[in-house]
Amino acid sequence: MATKLLLLSFVICRLISTVGLTVDPNGLLRLGLYRQLSFDYADVETASLDFGRMTQVKPLAVLHPSSADDIAGLIRTAYESPEGFTVSARGHGHSISGQAQAANGVVIAMSSSISKRNRLTRPSLSLGLGHKSSYVDVWGGELWIDVLNSTLEHGLAPRSWTDYLYLSVGGTLSNAGISGQAFHHGPQISNVYELDVVTGKGEILTCSNEQNSQLFHAVLGGLGQFGIITRARIALEPAPQREVEALLKKLDFIPTSVFTTDIPYVDFLDRVHKAELKLRAKGLWDVPHPWLNLFVPKSRIADFDQGVFKGILGNKKTSGPILIYPMNRNKWNQRSSVVTPDEDTFYLVALLRSALDSGEETQTLDYLSNQNRQILRFCKETGIKVKQYLPNLSTQEEWKDHFGDKWDLIVKRKMEFDPKHILATGQRIFQPGL
Ligand code: FAD
Repeated sequence: MATKLLLLSFVICRLISTVGLTVDPNGLLRLGLYRQLSFDYADVETASLDFGRMTQVKPLAVLHPSSADDIAGLIRTAYESPEGFTVSARGHGHSISGQAQAANGVVIAMSSSISKRNRLTRPSLSLGLGHKSSYVDVWGGELWIDVLNSTLEHGLAPRSWTDYLYLSVGGTLSNAGISGQAFHHGPQISNVYELDVVTGKGEILTCSNEQNSQLFHAVLGGLGQFGIITRARIALEPAPQREVEALLKKLDFIPTSVFTTDIPYVDFLDRVHKAELKLRAKGLWDVPHPWLNLFVPKSRIADFDQGVFKGILGNKKTSGPILIYPMNRNKWNQRSSVVTPDEDTFYLVALLRSALDSGEETQTLDYLSNQNRQILRFCKETGIKVKQYLPNLSTQEEWKDHFGDKWDLIVKRKMEFDPKHILATGQRIFQPGL
């Protein structure tokens, strides 16, 4: 046993000196993290990329956790070691511009197959069934598709969704988690009862509206800044089989304008995955995605239409869907860290475009990125107070402007829960203060 530990220590020392990670290897050995910590080329490469394919930052190592304790151990080491290192949770890596990457640090692969295998010793999902408030407890790295499939076995399903289900619970709760149901049920962050969170000091805390409520509201929509979500208690409802007819009955409309596709509930929820498979088959999935998601206040949506849809975008061919749907602000808890326009109703306008190598100038990454900048400039110059959803900002001035009145609260929360600025530095909100 002693020889084995000595050998492991030697291997870790060698790896650490190769990559320059400033961690005491004995500390990692004491934590027993040598089995979960990977310096493997393929792991590091995966963690350095995301769906956006526009930013690549290699971490020094990747942790495949088997429990919240592993995460807490790693963060405590980062917090207590004099030189320290950054730590970012990575769900399914579906960010656009490096938000889950960790320069000079460790990425925690919350949803990787190895992390899943490591956790097989305990059930990852447990249900609480009540007449009024059923819920499911899930690991923070669980994908929504797996949550859906497991809860459907009990005739239940979460109330609020994203359009695409191959995203992690922790990743979407760190943003908001929105789709067509959000106007009615609120975003996913409004449909969570309780969380387990590892803070930037390495403490594991349970939080809810009643317990450690500051942390609970900080983490929801908190862009990974205040802690890592290791467990979420998600609100469930009886799963509808099909619901279009019931909904149509309540609406007033011109009958000939109706266009419906009648499919089972699960196929409806998982619809984007079908599009993904088609795009993958054509080699059009792993391409750069200069996406822009904006919340536009209702009072200015006509001006936005005139200036952006009829102006900047005009009749040019687009290389991806554009989604527009309304939101009711009263369904968004203002105590969370997310920001929305200051109006009762606002619209999500999502320009989900891919940069293609098609030879058409209007589909290149430069062209689309430039158009995004034009749109943001137009909104600023004409006083349309949009807020970016899944924000892609670089300077602290931009972040201050983004958070507006909430900026002081965000700074206070950061001081309290991640004072050394260890977490989620890929968001570029706070400089690592190691
Ligand atoms: P990652 O990209 O891995 O991480 C995002 C951020 O959250 C990072 O800062 C990371 O450090 C942090 N983070 C990750 N896990 C945790 C955790 N457990 N605890 C704390 N912080 C954590 N969004 C919607 O709201 N609605 C949609 O319909 C929707 N559709 C999408 C479709 C596609 C094809 C793509 C690519 C994205 C879509 N998104 C949608 C955006 C998506 O919600 C965000 O990109 C989300 O962050 C992705 O989750 P992820 O698990 O891949 O997170």
